[in-house]
Amino acid sequence: MVVELISVGTEILLGNIVNTNAAYLAEKCAEAGLSCYYQTVVGDNMQRLKESIELGMSRADILILSGGLGPTQDDLTKEAVAELLNLRLVMDDDTRERIQEIFEKRNLEITVNNWKQALIPEGATVLDNANGTAPGIYVKAEKNHIVLLPGPPNELIPMFEEKVVPILKQLETSVIYSRTVKICGVGESKAETIIMDLMELQENPTIAPYAKTGEVHLRVTAKADSKEEAQKKVSPIVKELKARFGDDVYTTDPTVTLEKSVIELLKKHDLTLATAESCTGGLLSARLINVEGASKVFKAGMVTYSNKSKRKILGVKKPILTKFGAVSKETAVSMAKGILSQTQADVSVAITGVAGPDGGTENKPVGLVYIACCIDGITTTNEYQFSGNRSKIRESSVVAALTLLRKCVMKELKK
Ligand code: ATP
Repeated sequence: MVVELISVGTEILLGNIVNTNAAYLAEKCAEAGLSCYYQTVVGDNMQRLKESIELGMSRADILILSGGLGPTQDDLTKEAVAELLNLRLVMDDDTRERIQEIFEKRNLEITVNNWKQALIPEGATVLDNANGTAPGIYVKAEKNHIVLLPGPPNELIPMFEEKVVPILKQLETSVIYSRTVKICGVGESKAETIIMDLMELQENPTIAPYAKTGEVHLRVTAKADSKEEAQKKVSPIVKELKARFGDDVYTTDPTVTLEKSVIELLKKHDLTLATAESCTGGLLSARLINVEGASKVFKAGMVTYSNKSKRKILGVKKPILTKFGAVSKETAVSMAKGILSQTQADVSVAITGVAGPDGGTENKPVGLVYIACCIDGITTTNEYQFSGNRSKIRESSVVAALTLLRKCVMKELKK
């Protein structure tokens, strides 16, 4: 079945509030096996609201509207639906009582317009609101199912989960199942080239690539009559993707991040880690330490931002810094070796680069980063040229360091 989302509110149109309801509802509808081809944002204007609803009704089976159910003059959603479907608005006694109770409990005076919230299109089903006064509404029209939800997310989310999901489950009996293959160290366009033939063939399951900083996630989704059947469709594609990307796949578990996979790899092989960071200023160690159980693996992380600290703390030799500069392959290597000997860790990784916006030169432009990884006497260094602003360059550096670290450890373990 096809669902369409209509978010009502001039505040959303003007950008005063972010449309988190649409993001939430879209995700939940996809999980419920519904296809969604359009989302609309419309202001608090009767004519345009009616036009949006009519259009939605012409191209979707289910319409979910959010917002505009409140007591004020500009709350028009219910009125628009009732007018379009030629339904009278009638007082719902239970809702009226509930509104009265809420106001009495809060010791607030009820103004006349509050009763407007208890008016329901004739024959519609009331979806009780456990967290506010405006009830949700479900109307079965001739060809469409129309759901009206209150705008505030703390009212919309529980109402959707408790009252709307059971309705959707009755309407849509097929199941959607997805798995995500997470890849690091392969660019988005290269990843797409590797799976172009699979992408061209796709229908059910589908493969959707999501580019993240330094990573590509491939989401494989199938629709079927049961979860088992959908899983059967997804699994050969996941297997094929794993075969094509080999060691670059770091997980297919939705809860595992790149840093978690690195910590788990080191933990599994009883290896300890130390980091030395310049331009990333501790971002790498922060991400690693964010992982539960990192203490078993992570020994120390140094932020050596100045040349002096690189010399004093890591033992980088002065001639290296003067001859090659702080941002150089030689300095990165020396930093990685230095932190390893200071901490006696099994593996180390070091980052040095130009994060910008100032400090770039013709030879060493902003975004130039060197990362070195040292394990069992072997140091591997990579040069990167990242783009974007300061925070993007720093984030890219951290992901590249995690990727290099993972690669070097895996290479060492294969020996
Ligand atoms: P109320 O009874 O509170 O008036 P309502 O159904 O009339 O509820 P609106 O008046 O449209 O809802 O919006 C109330 C508040 O809900 C907004 O000020 C905003 O904080 C939040 N809200 C509305 N729509 C959205 C949305 N699409 N995404 C996120 N928040 C929203």
